[in-house]
Amino acid sequence: MCGMHGGDGFDHDILILGGGLVGSALACALDGQGWRLGQVEASEPAAGAPGFDERKLALARASLDALLALGVLPGLATPPAPIRRLHVSRAGDFGSVRLDAAERGVEAFGGVVLARELGQALEARVARVAGLERLRPARVLEVLTDADGHRVRIAGPAGERTLRCRLLVAADGTRSLARAALGIGVREHDYGQTLVICSLATERAPDGTAWERFTDSGPVALLPMHGGHYGSICGVPRGDAARVLAMDDAAYADYFQQRFGWRAGRVRRVGARSAYPIAAVLAERLTAPRAVLMGNAAQTVHPVGAQGFNLGLRDALTLAELTAGARARSADAADPGDAALLAGYAARRADDRAQTIAFSDGLARATATPGVAMHVARSLGLLALGHVPGLAEPLVSGAMGYRGHVPALARPRA
Ligand SMILES: Cc1cc2nc3c(=O)[nH]c(=O)nc-3n(C[C@H](O)[C@H](O)[C@H](O)COP(=O)(O)OP(=O)(O)OC[C@H]3O[C@@H](n4cnc5c(N)ncnc54)[C@H](O)[C@@H]3O)c2cc1C
Repeated sequence: MCGMHGGDGFDHDILILGGGLVGSALACALDGQGWRLGQVEASEPAAGAPGFDERKLALARASLDALLALGVLPGLATPPAPIRRLHVSRAGDFGSVRLDAAERGVEAFGGVVLARELGQALEARVARVAGLERLRPARVLEVLTDADGHRVRIAGPAGERTLRCRLLVAADGTRSLARAALGIGVREHDYGQTLVICSLATERAPDGTAWERFTDSGPVALLPMHGGHYGSICGVPRGDAARVLAMDDAAYADYFQQRFGWRAGRVRRVGARSAYPIAAVLAERLTAPRAVLMGNAAQTVHPVGAQGFNLGLRDALTLAELTAGARARSADAADPGDAALLAGYAARRADDRAQTIAFSDGLARATATPGVAMHVARSLGLLALGHVPGLAEPLVSGAMGYRGHVPALARPRA
């Protein structure tokens, strides 16, 4: 591959490493701003990015609004299945929280989509982004920092190439190579859990309720889907994962029933299972000179709170809003890697990020720590949430995606 520099010696103003859900959402959000854009993704286009799989994603209302504004939602093969009610309970405790969207004057808290279909809709939208050079399949091998940008060495079917960019966006996932190359460390916590996910059908068809149940072995959840089935998530202690995955369908249906209970009726059918070992990986900083981290590269959180993509999308929207602002102020002189712009990104992301990490981690630890004191505290907490007006609001606004500085495209519509 040979290099093709612009007149200023740069190939791209903004180079996105990673074409997963977040890197792709960023490409869409930058459309129309006039930058020379590049995106590097290791996977083959026909195979789809590794994150475009069978996992079911609960998307907050804010995320659905933003994906609609970006022109992504109309490309979904199946429209989002609305979450009209949230039901949160704890095995062995008295309390449960029931939150109803209608009581809060909204039609739904959010909706559930299949990651594979969201990935395909994003792909179709990314293909229409003006001025975007897609480098795929191509693997990032090395990132070198210069005073005015970065040099990124990539390898693709046609050989190696070095790209020069003014702003580097690391959206290359939990084990981000770019993050390490930029010298940004991580804090890591292994929850010792594996999440087993599959589609399943129960006696009672989904009615818009999303169920979350906490047990000492991990969280168990049912997300409503179209077509009469649920997306199920079942946390199991890591040491048990192989045994649970090896169960036949009937045995797994019984196991799930035992863990979840009978609120949705008898489990009738279970689909193919997949497993995800769960760890939190949190970057110590969100920026380096002329570089930002976003999505899982910036923070990989426990999926129990259904926050990861929602949060990463807000990272992407925030950066796009700042680069649009820079363009509007100084058109051709605008520099997307400007230090003040990057400081603005870190500042705007701080509250949402901290609160969402604390929320997801709090839920995950509460479910993983048996003990009498915790037991009582949890009961009280759940009861209080359910019965004292006002206490549920932070949970509701978080579930809908309104935390900290909310990017414009994700703000509630009138
Ligand atoms: C079981 C489960 C359930 C979940 N449920 C929810 C939910 O309900 N709601 C929610 O909001 N979130 C949920 N999440 C989280 C969500 O899936 C992630 O937050 C999201 O997929 C992160 O996307 P990303 O683009 O940041 O990272 P990734 O999906 O990891 O994408 C990174 C991309 O970078 C590419 N890449 C990596 N290294 C290189 C390299 N060196 N060169 C080139 N390319 C490279 C990879 O191929 C990949 O495509 C869930 C996660 C799991 C595991």
